Amino acid sequence: MTLSEPLIPIVCGNEVLTEGSDGVGRTFDPATGQAIANVAMAGEMEAEKAVRAAREAFDNGPWRKMRPFERGRILARIGEIMLERRDEIVRKECADSGKPKRDAYWEVDCSARFFEFYAGAADKLQGSSIPLGPGWTDWTVKEPIGVSLHIIPWNYPFQLIARGVAPALTAGCAVIIKPSQETPVTAYEFVKICQEAGLPDGLVNLVPGRGSVVGDHLARHRGVDQITFTGSVSTGQRVLAAAASHTIPCSMELGGKSPQILFEDADMDGALKIIAGGVFTHCGQVCNAGTRLLVQRSVHNSAVERLHVMASAMTLGAGIDDPDMGPLISSAHRKDVEAYYDLAGKEGELLLGAETPKDATLADGAFVRPALVVGASNATRVAREEIFGPVLTVISFDTVDEAVELANDSPFGLVAGVHTTNINKALTLSERLRVGQVWINAFSVGLDVEFPFGGFKQSGFGREKGLEALAAYQQVKNVCVRHA
Ligand code: NAD
Repeated sequence: MTLSEPLIPIVCGNEVLTEGSDGVGRTFDPATGQAIANVAMAGEMEAEKAVRAAREAFDNGPWRKMRPFERGRILARIGEIMLERRDEIVRKECADSGKPKRDAYWEVDCSARFFEFYAGAADKLQGSSIPLGPGWTDWTVKEPIGVSLHIIPWNYPFQLIARGVAPALTAGCAVIIKPSQETPVTAYEFVKICQEAGLPDGLVNLVPGRGSVVGDHLARHRGVDQITFTGSVSTGQRVLAAAASHTIPCSMELGGKSPQILFEDADMDGALKIIAGGVFTHCGQVCNAGTRLLVQRSVHNSAVERLHVMASAMTLGAGIDDPDMGPLISSAHRKDVEAYYDLAGKEGELLLGAETPKDATLADGAFVRPALVVGASNATRVAREEIFGPVLTVISFDTVDEAVELANDSPFGLVAGVHTTNINKALTLSERLRVGQVWINAFSVGLDVEFPFGGFKQSGFGREKGLEALAAYQQVKNVCVRHA
């Protein structure tokens, strides 16, 4: 079989390894089931090499000796090259992850924005001066934390690498990237762009491979100083235990079951479009997908009817053809999602959207139909568990208090959407919702890198994006002087 992409190697400093001690794997196009690239699978030996390269770059390399504005220029250049190469990266990402083309363009543009944003912050990482009275001078310095490990999921691989690596490099760290086995292709593009922009060797290292092998080994490694993990709650718990074995800090960006709260006084045309986009983007495989619709009883039936019409009109297809919805990541994941469809029929009523097209070109892909679940209570599994598929569970409420109670009655707390034309009601809800982000009459601004993102409860801890993200990659050192 001819593979459309070159082999995805392991990169440890300036060494590029086309084979790993865990063999050679493959990555597949979920729209066709075809293999698109071979992948060098890192094992413990390559993990050791990656740590050595990152340590050397951090402890003795030129990065920390450069002036901050010089670092900023290289970071800005990384963002520029991403934009120059966006068509090529989009093509690869559509094939590897299955997402529609417009979504892949968003992913690359957002990645470039992270580098633009943090490049501008590189020479503004100031400490503070603390008054202790006459005879004393005290100040703080923000130092890089060291070698930072980035464990990445498959849904937005390029963007999630950029989201963590840009602030880590800005703070002065060296990084090791462990991409998902499902989507390693654009991770290598990311590394090549960093090299081309002039980033010193060893600052960005790439170790594709199995999470339970190379991911676990790295998470336990004493040469790693910090971990940014993005993925599921159960894997996050394993990574936390590994990090605890050598007492290093972690940022945990985990799953969600985010509510979108629709009041009867909302601008329905605008709100329903936002709600559908909030749940069906990338086939529902989005951590902050708004998968629970809490709707005021008086507008429940009309909202469901209109959403069902919208879901039924959605086109399915390969990401590169830019359909409304691409496939799920794999046929194994499709089985998991379909099991929830069966469950939904028992816990409530399952209303499916567009029929899978009979088109033979889609027969081998991991396609599912978008789904609405009505009549299931907030206590059911379809209302509580992260399905990571295009399933919207609709639950009605009568009062503001009930809406807040339902929204907060979840193991997760990532984001929430509020749809109402009453700003007092919206602001009251923003105070009472236990989530990391509240959207009012919106569910994204697109390319939103400027403000913080992260979870309450099982959605994790630590904050990505915005200036807040830098703190994860810094240590605060206090210097105190007594003088005569
Ligand atoms: P996952 O937890 O299965 O895998 C995530 C990463 O962890 C992969 O690279 C995997 O190889 C690695 N891994 C697996 N076992 C490991 C171990 N023992 N030690 C170290 N690493 C290990 O998640 P996934 O299926 O790739 O992604 C979907 C999940 O990611 C969903 O739960 C979604 O909500 C979450 N997610 C969260 C955010 C966020 O910002 N909060 C963003 C995107 C995705």
